[in-house]
Amino acid sequence: MKRQFLIRVLIYSAAAALLCVLLHSLLTQGRRNDQRIALSLRLATLRTSIEKEVISNLLRIQGVATFIATTPRLDDDAFSRFASEALRDTVLLKNISAAPDFIIRFVYPMEGNRQALGADYRTLPGQWEQALRAKETGALVVAGPVALIQGGTGLVGRAPVIIRNGDRERFWGLVSAIIDVDRLYDAVGLRGYSDLNLAIRGVDGKGEEGEVFFGDPSLFAPASGAVFMPVSFPSGSWQLAALPASGSAGIAPSLPVMYGLVVLLYGGGLLLSYRNLRKDHDLQRVGQGLAEAQTLAHLGSWEMDFTTKEVRWSDETYRIFGLDRNSYVPTMDAIWDLVHPEDRESAERAFGAAMAEGAGYSLTHRIVRQDGSVGHVLARGSFTIGKDRSPASAMGTLLDITPLKETESALRTREQTLHAMSDASHDAIIMVDGEDTILFWNRAATKLFGHTEQEAIGRKLHPMVSLEADAAAARHSFQRFARTGSGQAVGTVREFTAVRKDGTTFPVERSVSAFELDGQWHAVGILRDITRRIEAREKLESYARRIALASEAGGVGVWEWNPLTDELIWDARMRQIYAIKPGEFSGLYRAWASRVHPEDLPGAEDALTTLRSQGGDWRHEFRILLPDGGLRHIRVAARARKDKNGQVTSIIGINRDITEQRLAEQELTRLATRDSLTGLFSRGHFMELGTRAVEHARRYGEPVSVLMFDADRFKAVNDTYGHDAGDAVLRALAATAADTLRQVDILGRIGGEEFAAVLPQADTKQAMLVAERLRSAIAAHEMDIGTGKPLSVTVSIGVSVFDEPSASLETMLKDADAALYAAKQNGRNRVERG
Ligand code: GH3
Ligand code: MG
Ligand code: MG
Repeated sequence: MKRQFLIRVLIYSAAAALLCVLLHSLLTQGRRNDQRIALSLRLATLRTSIEKEVISNLLRIQGVATFIATTPRLDDDAFSRFASEALRDTVLLKNISAAPDFIIRFVYPMEGNRQALGADYRTLPGQWEQALRAKETGALVVAGPVALIQGGTGLVGRAPVIIRNGDRERFWGLVSAIIDVDRLYDAVGLRGYSDLNLAIRGVDGKGEEGEVFFGDPSLFAPASGAVFMPVSFPSGSWQLAALPASGSAGIAPSLPVMYGLVVLLYGGGLLLSYRNLRKDHDLQRVGQGLAEAQTLAHLGSWEMDFTTKEVRWSDETYRIFGLDRNSYVPTMDAIWDLVHPEDRESAERAFGAAMAEGAGYSLTHRIVRQDGSVGHVLARGSFTIGKDRSPASAMGTLLDITPLKETESALRTREQTLHAMSDASHDAIIMVDGEDTILFWNRAATKLFGHTEQEAIGRKLHPMVSLEADAAAARHSFQRFARTGSGQAVGTVREFTAVRKDGTTFPVERSVSAFELDGQWHAVGILRDITRRIEAREKLESYARRIALASEAGGVGVWEWNPLTDELIWDARMRQIYAIKPGEFSGLYRAWASRVHPEDLPGAEDALTTLRSQGGDWRHEFRILLPDGGLRHIRVAARARKDKNGQVTSIIGINRDITEQRLAEQELTRLATRDSLTGLFSRGHFMELGTRAVEHARRYGEPVSVLMFDADRFKAVNDTYGHDAGDAVLRALAATAADTLRQVDILGRIGGEEFAAVLPQADTKQAMLVAERLRSAIAAHEMDIGTGKPLSVTVSIGVSVFDEPSASLETMLKDADAALYAAKQNGRNRVERG
């Protein structure tokens, strides 16, 4: 008997091992497939919403930059007005600031951000490199997430403000805004994925190279099995990674439970067998325990004796069929009525075949319970053959897998949802098997490549969508992929040239992840057209090349400084720029510092100190004083070099003399704002400054006055002495007026021999006093115009005082003009008020 039992132990062990394998594949393979696809699709959705949120907010920043570029004289009010507009209807942007020449001068809202005012990007740790990049690329730059001066974490978007004047471009400064990272996470529901482990890397838009800033960094480990997805911005990208929270995508959470069941089944089988052999009283008790275990595991057992025709069921078997032990007696024939009619034939066949061979069987089939409901069971059984070679007995188990089947059908429903989701995706989603044959092709793939789903499914992917050389490489790579699930494209985000159905090509970014399905390797690729991104990048590269060319042609001085020894080396061009005579330059830092304009030295030294301690780049402008008293504008670019310990050992830089450029710019500004004859403000500029002064007065309830004056009988001056003499008189008259008025007054030439002035803070009494002083000063001024006889002219003045809330510069000028007319009518050389 012992030997017989041992043989049974062996048979049961083998059966249990088989069941393990069966359960494993049943539970993992379908699930893994679903999970990888589901994960890819969910990530694609997440990526789209992150991009949408970030880009729409970056566009607002760009909008403010454009506004500044077209608003020549930016003041607090104009900035606040526009910035508040830009921040409307968004909860992600915390504030917007503008930094002319890299120093923060404007910020909105002021509350809570005041401390940022005056901050210089050159000295803000970790921000200078990105700020400079915005200037150099002329494009939006996304930095961070970074810790903010104001506290918290933010993503910083920076847009350069470039003022264009015909062909000339001038960098004005930066507009920055902070995207609240916590709110961004909430807006895209990043924290709502309780069933997923998510991580993001790519600080400063560096994509795969950037650091991890969200989630568990181990998701990016090569063997993590995570699904990856790129997130793209105008100036860089991030990479998303995800795994189901329950662990690797392939393991079903119920698997350990299932293994437990197998052990029970195995133990149960042995016990039954033993009980059959020795109906021992003690073992009856163990059998009781077994019944309880069976209930827990939803595992029923049965025995059949072909000689006595007796069928015995365990309690759990009764429960599985929904039958009562007291009223139902199982018989060998009646049992088949319990099998679902559609499954009955196949079940009987499996049972019969196993019986004929005295072997085992294993199958899943449906059952119809007493109450008419349908259940699913995994049925296993085995036969023993008697001495006459006919079956002697059978025994088996039934595992109730109804809940499992219900989950499967729920999964199928989800799969349909996934299809709908993948249709909504803007990215092409393509799945291939280990042979490169297309199994899944979404709507966006059709749009991108031109092949319909029917045309694509079943074809080889790479020969269809890539260039010949790439397709050959892919063919090679797929041989390995089919065996190992790894290949050159798997788990990476790469760019490649794709081919449309019509033969045209375009750049594509693809991210590929691999998964195993029924023992075969498959891959899902997410592809995106990046034509526009590539164009932007090429533009940037050609710009960089142009700069390199320009600097060679422009003559650049090169220097190197060793901060440890204080040794400073200059090339010949450096000496030229600084007008150094042979033997004069001492080769020390101090010698250079002594030449820098005292007003610019602190800024330059601060930058050098930072460079020396932290490394990085330095780009700036400063002025130098020449030995002959002249002044030069210098543009500097420098970079610190570090040894392997991170210690800055040398700083290499270039200097360029940009004096001519600066002077030309100053001259241009002067031309745009000044009248060429008198040097007073031009009409346009006077109107602009005057309008602002009147608006200011209105807002703060302060007085403001406007004067208009016109030379008396000026035609006669021209007629008598000639036009040139007339010009000289106008110049002298303007100079007298400028001398008489205060510094804060705004004085402009608004017509041929007509002038106007805005007097901030001047009420009626003061305005009349100033006007009278101006009239008498001009009348008293005697000019020498080369005729030998001194000449003097008089002016008539009209005064207008701000008096009603609706007043503007225009209405005040109209008022003053009427008063001026009255002054002329009343005899000239006099003052009248409106
Ligand atoms: P009144 O204003 O007192 O009524 O007499 P008026 O002779 O000054 O008359 P009006 O203001 O109408 O004439 C302006 C004259 O000023 C006409 C023009 O010859 C002269 N004028 C205008 N612009 C210039 C200029 O730029 N240079 C010179 N030399 N003369 C100018
Ligand atoms: Mg006139
Ligand atoms: Mg006149």
